[in-house]
Amino acid sequence: MISSEILLGLPGYEITAAEERSGIVHIQARFAGAVCCPHCSGLDLRLKDRRRRRLRHEDWGLRHTLLELETRKWLCRGCGRTFWQRFPGILPRMRATEPCRRAVCQRHYDGISRSRLAARERIASATIERWFVDWLSHLCSERVSLEWPMILGIDEHFFSRRHGYATTFCDLKNHKIHDVVLGRSEAALESYLARVQGRHRVQVVCIDLAPAYRALARKYFPQARIVADRFHVIRTVNHHFLACWKEIDPAGAKNRGLASLMRRHRHNLTLQQHQRLSAYLREHPALESIYRFKQRLTYLLLEKGRNHKRCQKLARRFLSDVAALRCCGLAPLVALGHTLYAWREEIATMWRFTRNNAITEGFHTKMEVLQRQAYGFRNFQNYRLRVKVMCS
Ligand SMILES: [Zn+2]
Repeated sequence: MISSEILLGLPGYEITAAEERSGIVHIQARFAGAVCCPHCSGLDLRLKDRRRRRLRHEDWGLRHTLLELETRKWLCRGCGRTFWQRFPGILPRMRATEPCRRAVCQRHYDGISRSRLAARERIASATIERWFVDWLSHLCSERVSLEWPMILGIDEHFFSRRHGYATTFCDLKNHKIHDVVLGRSEAALESYLARVQGRHRVQVVCIDLAPAYRALARKYFPQARIVADRFHVIRTVNHHFLACWKEIDPAGAKNRGLASLMRRHRHNLTLQQHQRLSAYLREHPALESIYRFKQRLTYLLLEKGRNHKRCQKLARRFLSDVAALRCCGLAPLVALGHTLYAWREEIATMWRFTRNNAITEGFHTKMEVLQRQAYGFRNFQNYRLRVKVMCS
């Protein structure tokens, strides 16, 4: 005799009969455990009524199964109240058992679309969505910690045309998404930041060159060191440098092959590419000196994990470079000089720490996939729930 518990995946039931009718397995079972009053735990009960309850249960291979249970209404002689019997693994008023709901949610999570799943399981698509949200909320409450992480990455990403951008708070130490919040301005994020407790735990905040995030970090994490994200700093340098190139030689700047070579670090060029670039630069001596300057600056920005003494040396070099930029007379480079000067402290901290927002950017790719799979979200809370479960 095979145990009913193993067949059903639920404790305390006994299968009394099973038959297959038009592709559906009907399992008749009864609950063998003791019944007690849910109000006072009394055992002195009198039977009032009985009814059959039919529930969707976990599929057996490709066959759907229906669990048929007899449920009873009892009167508790102890407290005088009546109640319908409750069963383990089945929530009140549900038409499916918990293992069944879990199996459907798991399939949806693994990427089977809601409409496809609805057709296959013969359940309404809205029901699947409701079950899925329940399931995600349950997982979310188990997994997500309420405390702020020690190393925090802040970055923005696009949510929808209607709602605009959202801000990601990422736990860079444990490679997790801490939270996503709608909006990227100070006003939009302030109420959220003020609400969450334990801000004193944050020691390092990593941000791109966004003044709003810096202002927020200074205000809400005053004890934390703010680190500029290396990738964004170098991208800004490249951006201004290319703008300057466009001013000096508009025809050359349109050549996409050359633009790709100009943007790269020297160590990423092959011998052939290096020769091609040198040949071009020899024709434009003014551009050559600017290019050399840019290369030196980017190599300076690539330094990481340095000690205090080395950082002081780097800072001196950096400040003299910035001063040269600010008085060079070329508008894009002057603008770059001002930007780098405004972020000098955060850039200097970058040399001490190796942390950057690469993990956050990686999660952004994952979130994009999530949005594509769902064909976009209208409800931000639904999106947030999925991000919190799937990216942690
Ligand atoms: Zn009672």
